[in-house]
Amino acid sequence: MPELPEVETARRGLAPHLTGKTITDVVIRNASLRWPIPKNLPGLLRGLIIRSLKRRAKYLLVDCGDGTLILHLGMSGSLRILPANTPADKHDHFDLSLSDGTLMRLRDPRRFGAVLWHSGDVHTHPLLASLGPEPLEKDFDANYLHRSTRGRIISIKQCIMDNHVVVGVGNIYANEALFRAGIRPRLAAGRVSLPRCSRLAAEIRSTLTEAIAQGGSTLRDFVNSTGQPGYFQQNYWVYGRGGDPCKRCGAPIKQFKQGQRSSFYCQKCQK
Ligand SMILES: [Zn+2]
Repeated sequence: MPELPEVETARRGLAPHLTGKTITDVVIRNASLRWPIPKNLPGLLRGLIIRSLKRRAKYLLVDCGDGTLILHLGMSGSLRILPANTPADKHDHFDLSLSDGTLMRLRDPRRFGAVLWHSGDVHTHPLLASLGPEPLEKDFDANYLHRSTRGRIISIKQCIMDNHVVVGVGNIYANEALFRAGIRPRLAAGRVSLPRCSRLAAEIRSTLTEAIAQGGSTLRDFVNSTGQPGYFQQNYWVYGRGGDPCKRCGAPIKQFKQGQRSSFYCQKCQK
């Protein structure tokens, strides 16, 4: 599944190909994504100029002035820039044709992605309005994390994976950031002290920043904007290493299920 670093990598790769271009046509081959692609999209988009490509959580936001095209890659989506006459594959559900003879194509075999339109301020869209802060922005810091976890008995791992607390911290990065911060995934969120919140917020930021710098990581079929597989197999401290020796102390990495997701930690390095 594309995580925040993959989406940010896609944004950075696609932005120069989209910004300033006029949308000349829209092709919807299969509207049945997570939500139906609006039927009136071609009429709305034809002739609009793309002002910028932004990101909020894992949503890509194509700012068209009057409104915003909201894209989500779901479980298996990828976006590529291709020459206009490129034949479509059966999983190529949506094209945005551009004035320079290229198109942006959404491929999404599992169809959990989304293509939606919002006129006016996109941050008031129901999918975006109640999201927590971006992990790489200034408003996500030690004080914020400490304040938003007080009194909470759910685990710190589930808390940092909750989009209302902070967006875009998926399972891989939650596991890795908790190891790097020396915090056990099952610890109640409300028991994490301010200094430890400070450490955790910093490790979340650096884990994500490093992954973005490496071009995003994934275990599946993310394809980046140049058509190359976008996965960069990172050297994880704990993620996917159940039973293997801890790279810091040598103790075996523990693995367990937590809210349907696999958690990994070192009993010695994490308290
Ligand atoms: Zn260890």
